[in-house]
Amino acid sequence: MPDAPEVWPVVGADGVRLRLADGRELIDGMASWWCAIHGYNVPELNRAIERQIKDMAHIMFGGLTHKLAAKLAKKLLKIAPNGLKNVFFADSGSVSVEIAIKMALQYWQAQGVRGKTKLLTIRHGYHGDTFGAMSVCDLESGMHHLFSNMLAQHIFADAPANGTDAEWDDSQIADFRQKIEQHQDTLAAVILEPVVQGAGGMRIYAPEFLRQVRKLCDECDVLLIVDEIATGFGRTGKLFACEHAGISPDIMCIGKALTGGYMTLATVLTTARVCAGIHENGSILMHGPTFMANPLACSVALASIRLLLDSPWQERVAAIETQLKQELAPCLNLPQVADVRVMGAIGVVELKNPVDMKHVQPLFVEKGVWIRPFGKLLYIMPPYVISPDDLSCLTRAICEVAAMSK
Ligand SMILES: *Cc1c(COP(=O)(O)O)cnc(C)c1O
Repeated sequence: MPDAPEVWPVVGADGVRLRLADGRELIDGMASWWCAIHGYNVPELNRAIERQIKDMAHIMFGGLTHKLAAKLAKKLLKIAPNGLKNVFFADSGSVSVEIAIKMALQYWQAQGVRGKTKLLTIRHGYHGDTFGAMSVCDLESGMHHLFSNMLAQHIFADAPANGTDAEWDDSQIADFRQKIEQHQDTLAAVILEPVVQGAGGMRIYAPEFLRQVRKLCDECDVLLIVDEIATGFGRTGKLFACEHAGISPDIMCIGKALTGGYMTLATVLTTARVCAGIHENGSILMHGPTFMANPLACSVALASIRLLLDSPWQERVAAIETQLKQELAPCLNLPQVADVRVMGAIGVVELKNPVDMKHVQPLFVEKGVWIRPFGKLLYIMPPYVISPDDLSCLTRAICEVAAMSK
């Protein structure tokens, strides 16, 4: 690109540190966009891939199957919210969102219900960069406004406020309720991120909203798709963010941390009702990615889930949450800062003005941390294995950068 911004070559990564080509080391605050929950160069995960590659790196998943896919599917259904009974393998988060949307559309079609072809979502959402996913991303806060004329038109309701159940007030769901009731005959599904909205604004809302959404979906006969791609595998303090609300979706997307950041893999989980509904009259789900259930990805996903569940992840995430709250709170006193939000191993400082990336990105690198802001947001979601001292380096860098922002 002409006038490309600076990039930093990385030659290695170990634990929570990225090693740059010039020998410097950066403490990783991003977990490579939510993925590397165990950090880097993890012996257990390395071993899983090394072992698997000798058996088979890949086979097509049409007409053929393999043990690891079956094992991973069973494992996911065991740890997922109640009621999810079937698994579809995809190769990335965005693709899993496409598949989730297709599942909902095909379900109603196979039921002979006409006209249920729209989706309802909330503002500030992010669901990926492919066309179906883009059509339910927030167009104003998102990055897809260039395509707005080319996207399927869906229905957007106001997002709930940032806040907890203690701060909840029923007016926050009024717009959503009005829209789902008004459009129920044309709605195939609601799609949203549970409790934490990621790339659309790093927002954290009351689980009560999700509880009421579940109830309204049932009352209006609309399926609920929950996008746990960023929130899954412990990031918010629960294994899946749905658990904060005690709800189960009809369709759930997971990805990102599924393989601990080693391989690209995502899955769509659904209920027996949706699965049987789609297959009525011999129909099949119209999707088949080439790298579906890639054995290397499945092997490392199984190893990553085992490592997570065998670790004291709840204590680790809770400790990170406590420390983030303590160490980011002083930012609230800065005139540049609009809000500070923490949930689980996610810390967000929202500034009043957009970050000057040309200036701020090299500054973080000079401070020995890898933090990648966007818009007005300085935020981190580090690997769960980060030490308190390393985490303090990240929060200190955020506070310093916030203090010298515009
Ligand atoms: C990252 C993300 C996606 C897209 O996943 P990709 O693997 O980048 O395609 C979808 N939804 C959410 C909530 C995400 O955070």
